[in-house]
Amino acid sequence: MACPLCDDTGWRPMEVDGVRRVVRCDCWKRDATMRLLEQAHVPRRYQHCTLDSFTAYNERLALAVDHARRLVEQGPLAERGLLLLGPPGVGKTHVSVGVLRELVLRYGLRGLFYDTRDLLRVIRSTYDPSVHTTEPEVLRPVIDAQVLVLDDLGAEKTSEWVDETLNLIVNSRYSGRRLTLLTSNYPDTGDLAEPDSLRARIGFRMYSRLLEMCEPVHLDGLDYREPRPPNADDAESLRTEWEARKSALKKLPSRTSAQARARLRAARLQTPAEPLDVKWPGGRAGS
Ligand SMILES: [Zn+2]
Repeated sequence: MACPLCDDTGWRPMEVDGVRRVVRCDCWKRDATMRLLEQAHVPRRYQHCTLDSFTAYNERLALAVDHARRLVEQGPLAERGLLLLGPPGVGKTHVSVGVLRELVLRYGLRGLFYDTRDLLRVIRSTYDPSVHTTEPEVLRPVIDAQVLVLDDLGAEKTSEWVDETLNLIVNSRYSGRRLTLLTSNYPDTGDLAEPDSLRARIGFRMYSRLLEMCEPVHLDGLDYREPRPPNADDAESLRTEWEARKSALKKLPSRTSAQARARLRAARLQTPAEPLDVKWPGGRAGS
């Protein structure tokens, strides 16, 4: 059905002081915002995620939502994004998508969502001569987006190329004072020799840059992807279940084997410290 106000032209006639003018119709503004939201490329499984639909059933989660809402209130004036840390399935992606949505809907910001591994895969694919997308065509929107979500940082297989590519993105966004939200399953243990810490996964240089750009927020809770009793979906029963399982969760063994830890630790310790200015490595993919 055509818009009754503008007949789908996007322009609505209006009379101001006896002079007939046209102004943008609300339907156009709504459509433009929806287009912006589509262009943010939030994966289908997260498209329903809003801050209002997030159940914060413990203190950490409530604090995370507070941080998220504060950032949304500041909007384009916000100086720092968020670095959402915590185990898999606690809702880090939900919160980051919630912020992205609000910033797009409320302020009309150009937003973009990428899973870190997907982004690296897409960039790497541009080195294939049969792919007709160039590296700058992929990187430019990532660097220029007014708000970027990089999901699941640290899960990528590390290599010199990965380090350089991520550093380029992060440093460019830092220089451009662009708002960035990142999520990671890797904890901030503060121990560089611990291969499972985020610092060890992404390197100290990038880690300290991220802390300049983002407020670190630690989430903890139940894994959303685990099966639950059918009634355990309201805040109260989630809180009860969380309390009951908190101590048990702490006793779980680390998911990295001792052998893998030792290998990663050795690899990290051999990497020398590099200077802060990053030169783009050019179009050659590592492993
Ligand atoms: Zn209209």
